Amino acid sequence: MTNLTQQAAFNHPSDERHSSNAETSRPQTSDSQISYSQTSHQQTSFVDVFKKLSRADLTLKLYSQTACDVERALQNPAANLDSLLALLSPAAEPYLEQMAQQAVALTRQRFGASIGMYIPLYLSNLCANECDYCGFTMSNKIKRKTLSKAEITDEIRPIKAMGYDSILLVSGEHETKVGVPYFKQMLPVVRQHFSYVAMEVQPLEEQDYRELVTEGLDAVMLYQETYNPVTYAEHHTRGKKSDFAYRLESPDRVARAGVDKIGLGVLLGLDDWRLDALLMGHHLDYLEKTYWRSRYSISLPRLRPCTGGVAPKVELTDKGLVQMICAFRLFNQQLEISLSTRETPELRNNLFALGVTNVSAGSSTQPGGYVEPNTELDQFEISDERSPQLVAKAMLERGLNPVWKDWESGW
Ligand code: SF4
Repeated sequence: MTNLTQQAAFNHPSDERHSSNAETSRPQTSDSQISYSQTSHQQTSFVDVFKKLSRADLTLKLYSQTACDVERALQNPAANLDSLLALLSPAAEPYLEQMAQQAVALTRQRFGASIGMYIPLYLSNLCANECDYCGFTMSNKIKRKTLSKAEITDEIRPIKAMGYDSILLVSGEHETKVGVPYFKQMLPVVRQHFSYVAMEVQPLEEQDYRELVTEGLDAVMLYQETYNPVTYAEHHTRGKKSDFAYRLESPDRVARAGVDKIGLGVLLGLDDWRLDALLMGHHLDYLEKTYWRSRYSISLPRLRPCTGGVAPKVELTDKGLVQMICAFRLFNQQLEISLSTRETPELRNNLFALGVTNVSAGSSTQPGGYVEPNTELDQFEISDERSPQLVAKAMLERGLNPVWKDWESGW
């Protein structure tokens, strides 16, 4: 087998730029940093589990793992949080090639050579939150737009022409103008054209999710952004999203409402990616054990430039991204791993083979952007601007099959 990690990361030109020591140096953290608002939940949720986790202990363990710990983890990585910790640690870096080979084998065993193709459709850039890394943040003086039914139908036409059958509906978080009544009106419009419909919008109540499922909702992507409550508070300064605990317990509500697939994610660059990834692993482990009927996916977006946005505090190198993907694949063979157009074509081409299962291409990150592109409305900059056909061609050249339709909820 060729050297997989060299293909995927080491040869990538931007690696030089990213190879700072800050990456492997141990970040300062202590349990005294943890302070988040009281959750209003009545039922048990991941918040209860999270409160018992010690950031200080986990950080200490992450940065004191040895080669022996990593070798032990490689023998028994599946569903083992201690192994995930070892595989995410700096001590696992010399084992990246071995991790990559195991990750590829596990991915092919479970998913074959298939890679699911999906595309985001931005419904609205209205937002009532202040998140300093996002182009849609409330205080940004950009033109705001929410698509009408007719405009959604207009957007769907070029999307269908690209060959898509799986769609991710995205909006800013604005409950009054882009809330459940709006979603209930728009979902049936979208549903008639796509066999799989996912949403990435504000967290909703359990009953809201139940109602949206009856309108055709298949999946909900709900990213915590960072599992560090202090960093979270620094970046989410206004609006409902500033409630760390409410967001943290949201996937519980999604699962209880019977949504088929739940997506977790962290915005890599906001905080120590190793610890954020590990805590996302704890979240995933809890959800899978508690709500075993749902499927799960993760997304690993790196912080990208946007209008008025912030620079990454902790930069994740390409090599680090490869380590994360491999560690999660070894931890969970069933897990779907998404890769967006935030990454460059070169890196994406190489990551397709590693463990990624869902890929977007030809994406616009603005409402109305497929009919009338206007970069002023973008949520963030896209790095891979290739057409879906070119991305599919790159997959085929690597012996992979782009899959445009893999789901029919009526069956
Ligand atoms: S990240 Fe989401 S909630 Fe925050 S400003 Fe952007 S769209 Fe709004």
